[in-house]
Amino acid sequence: MNSPEEFQLLLQQATEHLRYFRELGITHFGEQSCSIPTIQRSEAKPIISELKLESIAQVPVIIAPNQPIPDMPAKKTTPVLFGEENASLIPELQFKDDSLEKIRADMGDCQRCKLAATRTNIVFGEGNPKAELMVVGEAPGADEDASGRPFIGRAGQLLTKMMEAIHYKREEIYIANIIKCRPPGNRNPERDEVEMCSPFLYRQIAVIKPRLIVTLGNPSTQGLLNTKQGITTLRGHFHDYPRIEGIKIMPTFHPAYLLRSPDKKKETWEDLKMVRDFLK
Ligand code: URA
Repeated sequence: MNSPEEFQLLLQQATEHLRYFRELGITHFGEQSCSIPTIQRSEAKPIISELKLESIAQVPVIIAPNQPIPDMPAKKTTPVLFGEENASLIPELQFKDDSLEKIRADMGDCQRCKLAATRTNIVFGEGNPKAELMVVGEAPGADEDASGRPFIGRAGQLLTKMMEAIHYKREEIYIANIIKCRPPGNRNPERDEVEMCSPFLYRQIAVIKPRLIVTLGNPSTQGLLNTKQGITTLRGHFHDYPRIEGIKIMPTFHPAYLLRSPDKKKETWEDLKMVRDFLK
């Protein structure tokens, strides 16, 4: 660390970090008197309701039963697109009387990540707020960015057909993405973008409480399952959604991939038939 510029940069990063922890309500580090309480799942709601949650989204707070107070609390609950394997239940932050409207309002004109600079519209998600089947894709493309609606381009039309093949109309399901703003040139979502954005999706899932989530492609599958394994390994099997007990996940290929590799439609159809039979 030599130049004033380097020092300035370090200072900026440290300030950002502290701001993040302050938003979590943490003011002490490395002390047993850390201000975050350990919250048993059964008592989570009343305690959480006392916290100031307006600035939330990126703020996971609930700690698993009987866990010690962590020094660095974000680790356990950091969104995990590129994260550690985690077979157990991830403690979920619960919001008192949460709703899709509140989640959208909390997002506001979101500037939490660099995608805000290039997006046209936030693509929040749409569909049946009580859907038993939810579909989660990767990120808005050009058509979605222009309209503010998920999956309305070519891949979206194929998705609609896939859903109709298992007897679901588009409006009967809920459709969202792991991130809500279009990455420039449709590149893959980056880690910081997923970390900032996916807590809104977790809240949407907690409000909708679908019986089953179909994840399309790698980013949504890895993000929701908290794994680094790839779609080819994970597809074709039901998995537990690690944030809420009782919700299943079926990963399958992304329709945009199917447009490029139609030979994969056969495997996708096998996955969808399992979805159909599960929800029957
Ligand atoms: N691809 C996605 O993953 N999501 C969309 O909304 C559109 C295309």
